[in-house]
Amino acid sequence: FCKNGECQKVSCSLCKKECVPCNEDEDEEEYDEAVRLGMAAHFMCAEREAELGAFKKAWEEAIEFGIKQPCPKCGHCGVKDDACTHMTCDNCSTVWCYVCGLDCASEECSKGPDPTMAECYRHNVNWHANERRCPMYLTEINQVDNSWPDDDGAAKEKLLRFRILRNLKQTYDKMGTHAYARMVAAFPGMGAACGYTEDQINEVVMDVPLFQRNPDFLEEEEEEEDDD
Ligand SMILES: [Zn+2]
Ligand SMILES: [Zn+2]
Ligand SMILES: [Zn+2]
Ligand SMILES: [Zn+2]
Repeated sequence: FCKNGECQKVSCSLCKKECVPCNEDEDEEEYDEAVRLGMAAHFMCAEREAELGAFKKAWEEAIEFGIKQPCPKCGHCGVKDDACTHMTCDNCSTVWCYVCGLDCASEECSKGPDPTMAECYRHNVNWHANERRCPMYLTEINQVDNSWPDDDGAAKEKLLRFRILRNLKQTYDKMGTHAYARMVAAFPGMGAACGYTEDQINEVVMDVPLFQRNPDFLEEEEEEEDDD
């Protein structure tokens, strides 16, 4: 409502538009009807605002959960340090793999057969060829896929970006192109300003693996070692 008490102008706090012009000459009945219709139109502003707020939240979460990996057992979020891909949960002590996100003690986690090795190390055996195994260091991915950097910081950056883009693609597909455009119009910081453009998101193919494996890698490495 207008701060000027005599004016009685009603305006929407969301779109800042006045609902009905203040006209003292109108008879009261007509005025009430106009107010009623005007107010109803602005309830849609509130709904629209709530919907866009939900899109914004989903967008922020897609990015947040790309960065933080939750513990597969308790959901406590871990952030990877610069060391190996073995994660130990601060909360429940579960040992899990930062690359695939699986609990190393679980059935789903593929492991090499040597029972004298710790489970998390067995998960790293033959990762060059086995798509269900993961490397112990992100920098090793470069050995089989040269699109990956051999620098740890850059490799971690690449992994997070890969995850975030996939999360955003899912969120984008759920909300749709039109809603995305409305969200970015309402919250310009949510679009390409996040570092992920609409084109990059659209280019994401969900079943593309994190990196290309090379079944011949181990043999090649042995040959190199023989040379040394
Ligand atoms: Zn409004
Ligand atoms: Zn945990
Ligand atoms: Zn480790
Ligand atoms: Zn793994």
